[in-house]
Amino acid sequence: MAEFVGAVDQGTTSTRFLVFDHDGNEVGRHQLEHEQILPQAGWVEHNPVEIWERTSAVLRTTLNRLGLSGGDLAALGITNQRETTVVWNRRTGRPYANAIVWQDTRTDRIASRLEREGHGELIRRRAGLPPATYFAGGKIQWLLEHVDGLRADAERGDALFGTTDSWLLWHLTGGTDGGIHVTDVTNASRTMLMDLETLDWDDELLALFGVPRAMLPEIRPSSDPSGYGVTRANGPLDGEVPLTGALGDQQAAMVGQVCFAPGEAKNTYGTGNFLLLNTGTELVRSEAGLLTTVCYRFGDQEPVYALEGSIAVTGSAVQWLRDQLGIISGASESESLARQVPDAGGIVFVPAFSGLFAPYWRSDARGAIVGLSRFHTNAHLARATLEAICYQSKDVADAMEQDAGVPLEVLRVDGGVTANDLCMQIQADVLGVPVSRPAVTETTALGAAYAAGLAVGFWRDTDELRANWNEDRRWQPTWDEQQRTEGHARWRKAVERTLDWVD
Ligand code: ADP
Repeated sequence: MAEFVGAVDQGTTSTRFLVFDHDGNEVGRHQLEHEQILPQAGWVEHNPVEIWERTSAVLRTTLNRLGLSGGDLAALGITNQRETTVVWNRRTGRPYANAIVWQDTRTDRIASRLEREGHGELIRRRAGLPPATYFAGGKIQWLLEHVDGLRADAERGDALFGTTDSWLLWHLTGGTDGGIHVTDVTNASRTMLMDLETLDWDDELLALFGVPRAMLPEIRPSSDPSGYGVTRANGPLDGEVPLTGALGDQQAAMVGQVCFAPGEAKNTYGTGNFLLLNTGTELVRSEAGLLTTVCYRFGDQEPVYALEGSIAVTGSAVQWLRDQLGIISGASESESLARQVPDAGGIVFVPAFSGLFAPYWRSDARGAIVGLSRFHTNAHLARATLEAICYQSKDVADAMEQDAGVPLEVLRVDGGVTANDLCMQIQADVLGVPVSRPAVTETTALGAAYAAGLAVGFWRDTDELRANWNEDRRWQPTWDEQQRTEGHARWRKAVERTLDWVD
Protein backbone atom coordinates (compact mmCIF):
# COMPACT_ATOMS: atom_id res chain seq x y z
CA MET A 1 0.00 0.00 0.00
CA ALA A 2 1.33 3.40 -0.96
CA GLU A 3 2.40 5.38 2.10
CA PHE A 4 1.86 8.93 0.85
CA VAL A 5 -0.59 11.30 -0.78
CA GLY A 6 0.52 14.19 -3.00
CA ALA A 7 -1.03 17.61 -3.54
CA VAL A 8 -0.40 20.24 -6.19
CA ASP A 9 -1.12 23.77 -4.95
CA GLN A 10 -1.36 25.98 -8.02
CA GLY A 11 -1.33 29.39 -6.29
CA THR A 12 -1.41 32.96 -7.55
CA THR A 13 2.30 33.57 -7.22
CA SER A 14 3.72 30.05 -7.29
CA THR A 15 3.01 26.39 -7.85
CA ARG A 16 4.08 23.86 -5.27
CA PHE A 17 3.88 20.16 -4.82
CA LEU A 18 3.77 18.63 -1.35
CA VAL A 19 3.85 15.04 -0.21
CA PHE A 20 2.10 14.11 3.06
CA ASP A 21 2.14 10.99 5.21
CA HIS A 22 -0.78 9.41 7.01
CA ASP A 23 -0.40 11.72 10.05
CA GLY A 24 -0.78 14.74 7.78
CA ASN A 25 2.90 15.63 8.13
CA GLU A 26 4.75 17.05 5.18
CA VAL A 27 7.57 14.79 3.99
CA GLY A 28 8.79 16.96 1.12
CA ARG A 29 8.01 19.74 -1.30
CA HIS A 30 9.21 21.89 -4.12
CA GLN A 31 7.90 25.27 -5.21
CA LEU A 32 8.42 27.50 -8.25
CA GLU A 33 7.17 31.03 -8.87
CA HIS A 34 5.65 32.11 -12.16
CA GLU A 35 5.60 35.50 -13.80
CA GLN A 36 3.00 38.10 -12.85
CA ILE A 37 2.22 39.79 -16.17
CA LEU A 38 0.92 43.34 -15.68
CA PRO A 39 0.23 44.71 -19.20
CA GLN A 40 -1.61 47.82 -18.00
CA ALA A 41 -3.12 49.32 -14.86
CA GLY A 42 -5.67 46.91 -13.40
CA TRP A 43 -4.73 43.96 -15.63
CA VAL A 44 -3.09 40.84 -14.15
CA GLU A 45 -2.24 37.83 -16.31
CA HIS A 46 -0.45 34.49 -16.07
CA ASN A 47 0.95 32.37 -18.87
CA PRO A 48 -0.89 29.01 -18.64
CA VAL A 49 1.91 27.18 -20.46
CA GLU A 50 4.39 28.42 -17.86
CA ILE A 51 2.04 27.22 -15.11
CA TRP A 52 1.85 23.72 -16.60
CA GLU A 53 5.65 23.62 -17.03
CA ARG A 54 6.19 24.74 -13.44
CA THR A 55 3.73 22.10 -12.26
CA SER A 56 5.54 19.34 -14.14
CA ALA A 57 8.86 20.57 -12.76
CA VAL A 58 7.75 20.66 -9.11
CA LEU A 59 6.25 17.17 -9.41
CA ARG A 60 9.43 15.69 -10.87
CA THR A 61 11.81 17.51 -8.55
CA THR A 62 9.94 16.63 -5.36
CA LEU A 63 9.77 12.92 -6.17
CA ASN A 64 13.43 12.86 -7.26
CA ARG A 65 14.54 14.53 -4.04
CA LEU A 66 12.53 12.11 -1.92
CA GLY A 67 13.59 9.10 -3.97
CA LEU A 68 9.92 8.27 -4.57
CA SER A 69 7.98 7.35 -7.69
CA GLY A 70 4.35 7.81 -8.67
CA GLY A 71 3.62 4.33 -7.30
CA ASP A 72 4.37 5.58 -3.76
CA LEU A 73 1.40 7.94 -3.96
CA ALA A 74 -2.01 6.54 -3.07
CA ALA A 75 -3.68 9.52 -4.76
CA LEU A 76 -3.06 13.02 -6.04
CA GLY A 77 -5.10 16.10 -5.13
CA ILE A 78 -5.14 19.50 -6.81
CA THR A 79 -5.93 22.85 -5.30
CA ASN A 80 -5.74 26.10 -7.17
CA GLN A 81 -6.08 29.85 -7.33
CA ARG A 82 -9.79 30.21 -8.01
CA GLU A 83 -11.55 32.26 -10.71
CA THR A 84 -8.38 32.73 -12.81
CA THR A 85 -9.62 31.99 -16.29
CA VAL A 86 -7.87 29.87 -18.93
CA VAL A 87 -9.31 29.19 -22.37
CA TRP A 88 -7.48 26.72 -24.59
CA ASN A 89 -7.93 24.65 -27.74
CA ARG A 90 -8.57 20.96 -27.17
CA ARG A 91 -6.87 19.94 -30.44
CA THR A 92 -3.67 21.96 -30.19
CA GLY A 93 -3.53 22.36 -26.40
CA ARG A 94 -2.67 26.03 -26.93
CA PRO A 95 -4.26 28.76 -24.80
CA TYR A 96 -6.08 31.48 -26.78
CA ALA A 97 -4.66 34.15 -24.49
CA ASN A 98 -2.91 34.55 -21.19
CA ALA A 99 -5.00 33.55 -18.19
CA ILE A 100 -6.98 36.46 -16.73
CA VAL A 101 -6.18 36.41 -13.03
CA TRP A 102 -8.81 36.81 -10.31
CA GLN A 103 -7.37 40.21 -9.30
CA ASP A 104 -7.72 41.62 -12.82
CA THR A 105 -10.24 44.48 -13.08
CA ARG A 106 -10.62 44.75 -16.88
CA THR A 107 -14.19 43.44 -16.62
CA ASP A 108 -15.38 46.29 -14.38
CA ARG A 109 -17.75 47.56 -17.09
CA ILE A 110 -19.24 44.09 -17.56
CA ALA A 111 -19.82 43.88 -13.80
CA SER A 112 -21.31 47.34 -13.42
CA ARG A 113 -23.56 46.87 -16.47
CA LEU A 114 -25.01 43.68 -14.95
CA GLU A 115 -25.87 45.58 -11.80
CA ARG A 116 -27.22 48.60 -13.70
CA GLU A 117 -29.42 46.45 -15.91
CA GLY A 118 -30.94 44.77 -12.88
CA HIS A 119 -29.33 41.30 -13.15
CA GLY A 120 -27.49 41.57 -9.83
CA GLU A 121 -30.29 39.99 -7.85
CA LEU A 122 -30.49 36.90 -10.09
CA ILE A 123 -26.74 36.34 -9.84
CA ARG A 124 -26.79 36.79 -6.07
CA ARG A 125 -29.72 34.47 -5.58
CA ARG A 126 -28.67 31.72 -7.94
CA ALA A 127 -24.87 31.82 -7.78
CA GLY A 128 -24.46 33.35 -4.28
CA LEU A 129 -22.16 36.05 -5.67
CA PRO A 130 -22.43 39.77 -6.37
CA PRO A 131 -21.54 40.78 -9.95
CA ALA A 132 -17.84 41.66 -9.68
CA THR A 133 -14.66 41.59 -11.74
CA TYR A 134 -13.40 38.90 -9.36
CA PHE A 135 -15.37 35.95 -10.74
CA ALA A 136 -14.74 33.93 -13.89
CA GLY A 137 -17.99 34.54 -15.83
CA GLY A 138 -17.13 38.11 -16.86
CA LYS A 139 -13.58 37.08 -17.73
CA ILE A 140 -14.85 34.37 -20.12
CA GLN A 141 -17.22 36.91 -21.67
CA TRP A 142 -14.36 39.37 -22.13
CA LEU A 143 -12.23 36.74 -23.91
CA LEU A 144 -15.15 35.69 -26.13
CA GLU A 145 -15.61 39.33 -27.12
CA HIS A 146 -11.93 40.14 -27.69
CA VAL A 147 -10.23 37.05 -29.15
CA ASP A 148 -10.83 36.53 -32.88
CA GLY A 149 -12.51 33.26 -33.73
CA LEU A 150 -12.87 32.19 -30.11
CA ARG A 151 -16.66 32.27 -29.97
CA ALA A 152 -17.03 29.98 -33.01
CA ASP A 153 -14.48 27.54 -31.56
CA ALA A 154 -16.25 27.64 -28.19
CA GLU A 155 -19.63 26.90 -29.75
CA ARG A 156 -18.11 23.91 -31.59
CA GLY A 157 -16.62 22.63 -28.32
CA ASP A 158 -13.03 23.08 -29.52
CA ALA A 159 -12.26 25.93 -27.14
CA LEU A 160 -12.36 24.87 -23.50
CA PHE A 161 -12.72 27.02 -20.40
CA GLY A 162 -11.23 26.06 -17.10
CA THR A 163 -9.78 27.45 -13.91
CA THR A 164 -6.24 26.20 -13.34
CA ASP A 165 -7.50 22.96 -11.71
CA SER A 166 -9.15 22.01 -15.03
CA TRP A 167 -6.12 23.11 -17.03
CA LEU A 168 -3.79 20.92 -14.96
CA LEU A 169 -6.19 17.94 -14.78
CA TRP A 170 -6.51 18.06 -18.57
CA HIS A 171 -2.72 17.99 -18.98
CA LEU A 172 -2.09 15.37 -16.31
CA THR A 173 -4.60 12.98 -17.89
CA GLY A 174 -3.15 13.24 -21.38
CA GLY A 175 -3.78 16.73 -22.79
CA THR A 176 -4.45 16.59 -26.55
CA ASP A 177 -4.20 12.81 -26.22
CA GLY A 178 -7.48 12.21 -24.35
CA GLY A 179 -7.18 14.67 -21.47
CA ILE A 180 -10.36 14.95 -19.40
CA HIS A 181 -12.21 18.26 -19.02
CA VAL A 182 -13.57 18.53 -15.49
CA THR A 183 -13.68 20.91 -12.55
CA ASP A 184 -14.84 20.49 -8.97
CA VAL A 185 -17.94 22.00 -7.49
CA THR A 186 -16.08 24.58 -5.35
CA ASN A 187 -14.27 26.02 -8.36
CA ALA A 188 -17.48 26.00 -10.39
CA SER A 189 -19.20 27.95 -7.61
CA ARG A 190 -16.88 30.92 -8.36
CA THR A 191 -17.92 31.52 -11.95
CA MET A 192 -21.32 33.25 -11.51
CA LEU A 193 -22.51 30.50 -13.89
CA MET A 194 -23.44 27.69 -11.49
CA ASP A 195 -26.69 27.29 -9.58
CA LEU A 196 -25.75 26.73 -5.93
CA GLU A 197 -28.73 24.46 -5.38
CA THR A 198 -28.61 22.18 -8.44
CA LEU A 199 -24.78 22.31 -8.62
CA ASP A 200 -25.06 22.50 -12.41
CA TRP A 201 -24.37 25.22 -14.97
CA ASP A 202 -27.43 27.44 -15.20
CA ASP A 203 -28.86 28.31 -18.64
CA GLU A 204 -30.13 31.73 -17.59
CA LEU A 205 -26.75 32.70 -16.16
CA LEU A 206 -24.94 31.33 -19.22
CA ALA A 207 -27.17 33.47 -21.44
CA LEU A 208 -26.42 36.56 -19.34
CA PHE A 209 -22.70 36.19 -20.02
CA GLY A 210 -23.09 34.71 -23.52
CA VAL A 211 -21.07 31.63 -22.55
CA PRO A 212 -21.68 28.47 -24.65
CA ARG A 213 -22.20 25.37 -22.49
CA ALA A 214 -19.96 23.37 -24.85
CA MET A 215 -16.85 25.12 -23.52
CA LEU A 216 -17.54 24.35 -19.86
CA PRO A 217 -16.05 21.46 -17.88
CA GLU A 218 -18.09 18.74 -16.21
CA ILE A 219 -18.70 19.57 -12.53
CA ARG A 220 -17.54 16.83 -10.14
CA PRO A 221 -17.35 16.35 -6.35
CA SER A 222 -14.28 17.79 -4.55
CA SER A 223 -13.38 14.33 -3.29
CA ASP A 224 -14.36 11.74 -5.87
CA PRO A 225 -14.04 7.99 -5.28
CA SER A 226 -14.66 7.35 -8.97
CA GLY A 227 -11.80 9.74 -9.72
CA TYR A 228 -11.20 12.31 -12.46
CA GLY A 229 -8.87 9.86 -14.20
CA VAL A 230 -5.26 8.87 -13.58
CA THR A 231 -2.02 10.66 -14.36
CA ARG A 232 -0.67 9.37 -17.65
CA ALA A 233 2.18 6.92 -17.37
CA ASN A 234 4.66 9.01 -19.37
CA GLY A 235 3.80 12.27 -17.54
CA PRO A 236 5.74 14.03 -14.79
CA LEU A 237 4.90 11.38 -12.17
CA ASP A 238 6.08 8.51 -14.39
CA GLY A 239 3.12 6.45 -13.37
CA GLU A 240 -0.64 6.19 -13.12
CA VAL A 241 -1.73 7.90 -9.92
CA PRO A 242 -5.47 8.29 -9.23
CA LEU A 243 -6.62 11.93 -9.38
CA THR A 244 -9.35 11.97 -6.74
CA GLY A 245 -9.30 15.38 -5.02
CA ALA A 246 -9.79 18.91 -6.35
CA LEU A 247 -10.83 22.07 -4.54
CA GLY A 248 -10.37 25.79 -4.84
CA ASP A 249 -7.55 26.94 -2.58
CA GLN A 250 -9.70 28.53 0.12
CA GLN A 251 -12.05 25.60 0.35
CA ALA A 252 -9.02 23.30 0.49
CA ALA A 253 -7.73 25.33 3.44
CA MET A 254 -11.07 24.75 5.21
CA VAL A 255 -10.52 21.01 4.79
CA GLY A 256 -6.86 21.29 5.83
CA GLN A 257 -7.92 23.24 8.93
CA VAL A 258 -10.52 20.50 9.56
CA CYS A 259 -13.38 23.05 9.63
CA PHE A 260 -15.94 20.29 9.10
CA ALA A 261 -18.61 21.47 11.58
CA PRO A 262 -21.01 24.38 11.09
CA GLY A 263 -19.61 27.45 12.87
CA GLU A 264 -15.94 26.56 12.28
CA ALA A 265 -13.94 29.25 10.45
CA LYS A 266 -10.45 29.99 9.18
CA ASN A 267 -8.62 32.96 7.68
CA THR A 268 -5.93 32.38 5.05
CA TYR A 269 -3.35 35.14 4.56
CA GLY A 270 -1.74 34.81 1.12
CA THR A 271 -1.80 37.15 -1.87
CA GLY A 272 -5.24 38.11 -0.59
CA ASN A 273 -7.12 37.08 2.56
CA PHE A 274 -10.02 34.68 2.67
CA LEU A 275 -12.13 34.15 5.76
CA LEU A 276 -14.56 31.24 5.42
CA LEU A 277 -17.22 29.99 7.82
CA ASN A 278 -18.72 26.50 7.47
CA THR A 279 -22.54 26.78 7.43
CA GLY A 280 -23.17 23.04 7.00
CA THR A 281 -25.65 21.78 4.41
CA GLU A 282 -27.59 25.03 4.84
CA LEU A 283 -27.21 27.68 2.16
CA VAL A 284 -26.94 30.99 4.05
CA ARG A 285 -27.60 34.16 2.02
CA SER A 286 -25.49 37.09 3.12
CA GLU A 287 -26.96 40.44 4.12
CA ALA A 288 -23.59 41.92 4.98
CA GLY A 289 -21.52 41.69 1.80
CA LEU A 290 -20.20 38.13 2.01
CA LEU A 291 -20.31 35.41 -0.61
CA THR A 292 -22.19 32.14 -0.41
CA THR A 293 -20.05 29.38 -1.80
CA VAL A 294 -19.67 25.61 -1.84
CA CYS A 295 -17.24 24.61 0.91
CA TYR A 296 -16.77 21.05 -0.35
CA ARG A 297 -18.63 18.02 -1.55
CA PHE A 298 -17.29 14.61 -0.64
CA GLY A 299 -18.45 11.89 -3.03
CA ASP A 300 -22.22 11.64 -3.26
CA GLN A 301 -22.80 13.22 0.17
CA GLU A 302 -24.76 16.46 0.48
CA PRO A 303 -22.69 19.52 -0.39
CA VAL A 304 -21.44 21.62 2.52
CA TYR A 305 -21.69 25.39 2.08
CA ALA A 306 -19.70 28.31 3.45
CA LEU A 307 -19.94 32.05 3.86
CA GLU A 308 -16.82 33.75 2.60
CA GLY A 309 -15.24 37.16 2.96
CA SER A 310 -12.62 37.64 0.24
CA ILE A 311 -10.05 40.42 0.43
CA ALA A 312 -8.05 41.08 -2.73
CA VAL A 313 -4.83 42.61 -1.42
CA THR A 314 -3.06 41.57 1.78
CA GLY A 315 0.23 39.67 1.28
CA SER A 316 0.45 41.27 -2.16
CA ALA A 317 0.61 44.69 -0.43
CA VAL A 318 3.80 43.39 1.21
CA GLN A 319 5.04 42.36 -2.25
CA TRP A 320 4.26 45.87 -3.43
CA LEU A 321 6.52 47.29 -0.70
CA ARG A 322 9.22 44.93 -1.98
CA ASP A 323 8.79 45.10 -5.77
CA GLN A 324 7.31 48.50 -6.56
CA LEU A 325 8.62 50.67 -3.72
CA GLY A 326 11.77 48.68 -2.97
CA ILE A 327 11.66 49.55 0.76
CA ILE A 328 12.16 45.93 1.83
CA SER A 329 14.17 43.21 0.12
CA GLY A 330 12.01 40.28 1.22
CA ALA A 331 8.54 39.76 2.69
CA SER A 332 9.86 38.87 6.14
CA GLU A 333 11.62 42.25 6.37
CA SER A 334 8.17 43.85 6.62
CA GLU A 335 8.20 42.60 10.22
CA SER A 336 11.63 43.88 11.28
CA LEU A 337 10.97 47.24 9.60
CA ALA A 338 7.53 47.61 11.22
CA ARG A 339 9.00 46.72 14.63
CA GLN A 340 11.21 49.83 14.46
CA VAL A 341 8.17 51.94 15.37
CA PRO A 342 5.57 51.42 18.12
CA ASP A 343 2.66 52.18 15.78
CA ALA A 344 1.90 53.56 12.30
CA GLY A 345 2.11 57.16 13.59
CA GLY A 346 -1.48 57.86 12.60
CA ILE A 347 -1.20 56.94 8.91
CA VAL A 348 -3.58 54.45 7.31
CA PHE A 349 -2.82 52.53 4.14
CA VAL A 350 -5.82 51.11 2.26
CA PRO A 351 -4.40 48.82 -0.46
CA ALA A 352 -7.50 48.91 -2.68
CA PHE A 353 -5.42 48.08 -5.75
CA SER A 354 -8.16 45.91 -7.28
CA GLY A 355 -11.04 47.93 -5.88
CA LEU A 356 -12.41 46.69 -2.57
CA PHE A 357 -13.80 43.18 -2.22
CA ALA A 358 -15.74 42.00 0.85
CA PRO A 359 -17.66 43.43 2.52
CA TYR A 360 -17.64 46.57 0.35
CA TRP A 361 -17.62 45.24 -3.26
CA ARG A 362 -16.54 48.59 -4.72
CA SER A 363 -14.69 48.24 -8.02
CA ASP A 364 -14.50 52.06 -8.14
CA ALA A 365 -12.11 52.17 -5.15
CA ARG A 366 -8.35 52.58 -5.53
CA GLY A 367 -5.56 52.52 -2.96
CA ALA A 368 -4.65 55.41 -0.65
CA ILE A 369 -2.20 56.29 2.11
CA VAL A 370 -3.78 58.94 4.29
CA GLY A 371 -2.59 61.02 7.23
CA LEU A 372 0.96 61.55 5.91
CA SER A 373 3.27 64.17 7.33
CA ARG A 374 7.00 64.74 6.97
CA PHE A 375 7.61 62.77 10.13
CA HIS A 376 6.60 59.47 8.55
CA THR A 377 9.10 56.84 7.41
CA ASN A 378 9.26 53.51 5.63
CA ALA A 379 8.82 51.86 9.01
CA HIS A 380 5.43 53.56 9.54
CA LEU A 381 4.35 52.45 6.08
CA ALA A 382 5.44 48.86 6.78
CA ARG A 383 3.46 48.92 10.02
CA ALA A 384 0.44 50.45 8.28
CA THR A 385 0.62 47.65 5.70
CA LEU A 386 0.41 44.98 8.40
CA GLU A 387 -2.43 46.90 10.05
CA ALA A 388 -4.27 47.07 6.71
CA ILE A 389 -4.12 43.28 6.47
CA CYS A 390 -5.65 43.02 9.94
CA TYR A 391 -8.31 45.74 9.60
CA GLN A 392 -9.55 44.30 6.32
CA SER A 393 -9.96 40.98 8.12
CA LYS A 394 -11.76 42.76 10.98
CA ASP A 395 -14.31 44.20 8.52
CA VAL A 396 -14.98 40.73 7.17
CA ALA A 397 -15.17 39.14 10.64
CA ASP A 398 -17.74 41.78 11.66
CA ALA A 399 -19.82 40.99 8.56
CA MET A 400 -19.66 37.29 9.38
CA GLU A 401 -20.87 37.84 12.93
CA GLN A 402 -23.74 39.86 11.52
CA ASP A 403 -24.74 37.17 8.98
CA ALA A 404 -24.21 34.13 11.17
CA GLY A 405 -25.45 35.74 14.39
CA VAL A 406 -22.68 34.15 16.48
CA PRO A 407 -19.53 35.89 17.71
CA LEU A 408 -16.13 34.64 16.63
CA GLU A 409 -14.37 32.97 19.55
CA VAL A 410 -11.03 32.13 18.05
CA LEU A 411 -9.59 32.69 14.57
CA ARG A 412 -7.69 29.81 12.95
CA VAL A 413 -5.12 31.20 10.56
CA ASP A 414 -2.78 29.95 7.84
CA GLY A 415 -0.95 31.15 4.71
CA GLY A 416 2.35 32.92 3.99
CA VAL A 417 1.71 36.06 6.05
CA THR A 418 1.13 34.06 9.26
CA ALA A 419 4.93 33.68 9.43
CA ASN A 420 4.79 37.34 10.52
CA ASP A 421 4.40 37.21 14.33
CA LEU A 422 3.87 40.96 14.62
CA CYS A 423 1.06 40.86 12.08
CA MET A 424 -0.65 38.01 13.98
CA GLN A 425 -0.34 39.95 17.26
CA ILE A 426 -1.91 43.00 15.61
CA GLN A 427 -4.67 40.74 14.28
CA ALA A 428 -5.51 39.49 17.78
CA ASP A 429 -5.44 43.10 19.06
CA VAL A 430 -7.65 44.46 16.29
CA LEU A 431 -10.21 41.64 16.60
CA GLY A 432 -10.15 41.27 20.36
CA VAL A 433 -10.13 37.46 20.02
CA PRO A 434 -7.25 34.96 20.12
CA VAL A 435 -5.55 33.96 16.88
CA SER A 436 -4.46 30.33 16.53
CA ARG A 437 -1.90 28.95 14.05
CA PRO A 438 -1.71 25.19 13.41
CA ALA A 439 1.52 23.21 13.29
CA VAL A 440 1.01 22.50 9.57
CA THR A 441 0.47 25.90 7.94
CA GLU A 442 0.32 24.48 4.41
CA THR A 443 -3.35 23.80 5.01
CA THR A 444 -4.29 24.44 1.38
CA ALA A 445 -2.16 21.61 0.04
CA LEU A 446 -3.05 19.47 3.04
CA GLY A 447 -6.76 19.94 2.32
CA ALA A 448 -6.32 18.80 -1.28
CA ALA A 449 -4.35 15.79 -0.05
CA TYR A 450 -7.11 15.02 2.46
CA ALA A 451 -9.80 15.23 -0.24
CA ALA A 452 -7.80 12.92 -2.53
CA GLY A 453 -6.88 10.49 0.27
CA LEU A 454 -10.43 10.23 1.66
CA ALA A 455 -11.65 9.17 -1.78
CA VAL A 456 -9.29 6.18 -1.97
CA GLY A 457 -9.61 5.14 1.70
CA PHE A 458 -6.10 6.35 2.63
CA TRP A 459 -7.93 8.19 5.44
CA ARG A 460 -11.05 6.56 6.82
CA ASP A 461 -13.15 9.59 7.70
CA THR A 462 -13.04 13.21 8.82
CA ASP A 463 -12.58 12.20 12.49
CA GLU A 464 -9.25 10.71 11.57
CA LEU A 465 -8.28 14.01 9.94
CA ARG A 466 -9.35 16.02 12.99
CA ALA A 467 -6.95 14.00 15.13
CA ASN A 468 -4.08 15.24 12.91
CA TRP A 469 -4.70 18.94 13.72
CA ASN A 470 -2.35 20.51 16.31
CA GLU A 471 -1.90 24.11 17.42
CA ASP A 472 1.54 25.62 17.01
CA ARG A 473 1.00 29.07 18.50
CA ARG A 474 -1.73 31.31 19.90
CA TRP A 475 -1.75 35.13 20.17
CA GLN A 476 -3.89 36.79 22.84
CA PRO A 477 -5.37 40.29 22.39
CA THR A 478 -3.61 43.05 24.38
CA TRP A 479 -5.49 46.22 23.35
CA ASP A 480 -8.27 47.68 25.47
CA GLU A 481 -11.71 48.36 24.08
CA GLN A 482 -11.04 52.06 23.45
CA GLN A 483 -7.87 51.44 21.46
CA ARG A 484 -9.73 48.88 19.36
CA THR A 485 -12.69 51.11 18.65
CA GLU A 486 -10.60 54.18 17.81
CA GLY A 487 -8.26 52.21 15.55
CA HIS A 488 -11.14 50.69 13.63
CA ALA A 489 -12.93 54.04 13.28
CA ARG A 490 -9.76 55.58 11.78
CA TRP A 491 -9.51 52.67 9.36
CA ARG A 492 -13.15 53.10 8.25
CA LYS A 493 -12.57 56.81 7.69
CA ALA A 494 -9.61 56.02 5.42
CA VAL A 495 -11.65 53.44 3.50
CA GLU A 496 -14.21 56.17 2.74
CA ARG A 497 -11.43 58.20 1.10
CA THR A 498 -10.70 55.44 -1.44
CA LEU A 499 -14.24 55.16 -2.86
CA ASP A 500 -15.52 56.75 -6.09
CA TRP A 501 -12.00 57.06 -7.50
CA VAL A 502 -12.70 55.53 -10.92
CA ASP A 503 -15.93 55.37 -12.93
P1 ADP B 1 -0.37 32.45 -2.36
O1 ADP B 1 -0.75 31.02 -2.11
O2 ADP B 1 -1.52 33.39 -2.50
O3 ADP B 1 0.64 32.62 -3.45
P2 ADP B 1 1.19 32.33 0.15
O4 ADP B 1 0.37 31.69 1.20
O5 ADP B 1 2.36 31.60 -0.39
O6 ADP B 1 0.30 32.97 -1.01
O7 ADP B 1 1.74 33.67 0.79
C1 ADP B 1 2.53 34.50 0.04
C2 ADP B 1 2.27 35.92 0.47
O8 ADP B 1 2.67 36.07 1.82
C3 ADP B 1 3.05 36.91 -0.35
O9 ADP B 1 2.16 37.89 -0.81
C4 ADP B 1 4.07 37.49 0.63
O10 ADP B 1 4.22 38.88 0.41
C5 ADP B 1 3.44 37.24 1.97
N1 ADP B 1 4.42 36.94 3.02
C6 ADP B 1 5.25 35.89 3.10
N2 ADP B 1 6.01 35.96 4.22
C7 ADP B 1 5.64 37.09 4.88
C8 ADP B 1 6.05 37.73 6.11
N3 ADP B 1 6.98 37.19 6.89
N4 ADP B 1 5.43 38.88 6.43
C9 ADP B 1 4.46 39.41 5.66
N5 ADP B 1 4.05 38.86 4.50
C10 ADP B 1 4.62 37.72 4.12
